[in-house]
Amino acid sequence: MPVETRRPVPPPEETPEQKSARLRSQITTYLENFARAIEETQGPNNVKPHSPEDFQVRVDETMVFIDRNDFINRELNSERYNRVREKERHQKANVIMAATACVDPRVPRYIFGREISMIKVPQGEITTIRRPSDNKRIPKSATLRQGIRNAAESDRELFEFFFVHTDTINNVHGCSGMGNVLADLDGHDSIDFNEKHAISQEPTAVDANIRLSVQTTEEAITNYYNICRKMAGKVKVARVGITAIYDTDTIGIIVRKDGEDLSTTDLTNKHLDEISTLSGQQGKYAETFTDERYLLDFLEDVADTTETLLNSDNQLVQEVDKFLQKHYSDLTGNQHAAARWGLVRMCSVKYLIGNLQNVNGKPNHSFVDQVADSPISISLNGEALGEFDTKQHFWSSPGSIKAAISETDLQTSVVRKIPGHSTKPTAVFVCSSADDEDASKRNKGYGRTLELNEMLVDELVVSREVGTLLLNDKIIIIPTVISDTTRLVIEIPDHTGSF
Ligand SMILES: [Zn+2]
Repeated sequence: MPVETRRPVPPPEETPEQKSARLRSQITTYLENFARAIEETQGPNNVKPHSPEDFQVRVDETMVFIDRNDFINRELNSERYNRVREKERHQKANVIMAATACVDPRVPRYIFGREISMIKVPQGEITTIRRPSDNKRIPKSATLRQGIRNAAESDRELFEFFFVHTDTINNVHGCSGMGNVLADLDGHDSIDFNEKHAISQEPTAVDANIRLSVQTTEEAITNYYNICRKMAGKVKVARVGITAIYDTDTIGIIVRKDGEDLSTTDLTNKHLDEISTLSGQQGKYAETFTDERYLLDFLEDVADTTETLLNSDNQLVQEVDKFLQKHYSDLTGNQHAAARWGLVRMCSVKYLIGNLQNVNGKPNHSFVDQVADSPISISLNGEALGEFDTKQHFWSSPGSIKAAISETDLQTSVVRKIPGHSTKPTAVFVCSSADDEDASKRNKGYGRTLELNEMLVDELVVSREVGTLLLNDKIIIIPTVISDTTRLVIEIPDHTGSF
């Protein structure tokens, strides 16, 4: 039976080394077939590497991302990290916590740890639709709606940070997704004329992006959460979360409301002595916070520092409380505790990574600039390869096939404009995630995951935008199936038979 020979069942007790060797062999076969398929359909181009050495480099580079993904996720599934999660679960009042952010790889997910789930969408704005029955704005992504519905049915309340992104020190950077929206506000199809007018009147691009986030993402998620709460027989909440700014220069959160800012970076610097008295060494991870080998040490220390701050009488926590009470008195008690935890936790991050500025005050760390040759991951329904990467890795969770096509196109164009990028095609991991048990049994559920993955790859390949990128040797597509729970890579399926 071809199905069985083409997709061998992985041995149950595979060591990390055996697994890496198995995936290397899958990648090698896949990349050979991919180059052949593209050459046959599109004519000869550079997608087929020029020499066996070039081909080997391509395999090796792909395996670097896969091996790092698996190393990081093995760490994040360890007993040691489970104890960190348990601690953080208590710290945040057992609220379900989530965040949205732009696809920029300088807004990394690993900083937040696994207790905050995150989705990444261009300029941090989810795609929304109007519900036909009452014209209410709701999220377009069925995956996101399912997640919100589960949260509404849970005993725990939901709290979210809706991040817009900026660089407070080096203003030549900023958010390119936001830049694109503001340059073509007329073309934005999910906000009406009055909303566009209000956005265009905001004093700065960041304020415009905050208003956009409040009017689209924040409104849609709050509406849908309340719709589902009503269906579950629960009372409405005033808000699901807070739109805030993520600063990629100082690595901090700024909450801006009614003309007042609360910045976790400023707050940390203001109360350095206080934190030092209570907790360990400032800047302990200045050199190592982007090194995956120190990830667990770092996250453990973040949780411990946060615990110390939350459990002692100190001005830093009092200032956070005061700001939230003044500007967000409509949060529920649990949501307030979760917001406080998120902000105090970010102060702990800032304390442990240190000031990160050189003598002239310029930011000086590996997330200041986007790095050339970052890979891209796209996942339509589920987890993505490299979500917790400690190095820069573009990834996004598009809400539809249409969005998947445009996000692949957008991210590729951003990646390939980064100074110093090579002429090599960019690796685009097209991800689907599967249940581990389904995968080990190769049952129908797993078969459906493979089907969905193949459909997504098909749609990308036949689209004008992605087809052009393939034809012009800008990308190579790598289908990837990862585990829903551990996010370890399960296999590299080969769909090139349909190219
Ligand atoms: Zn951005």
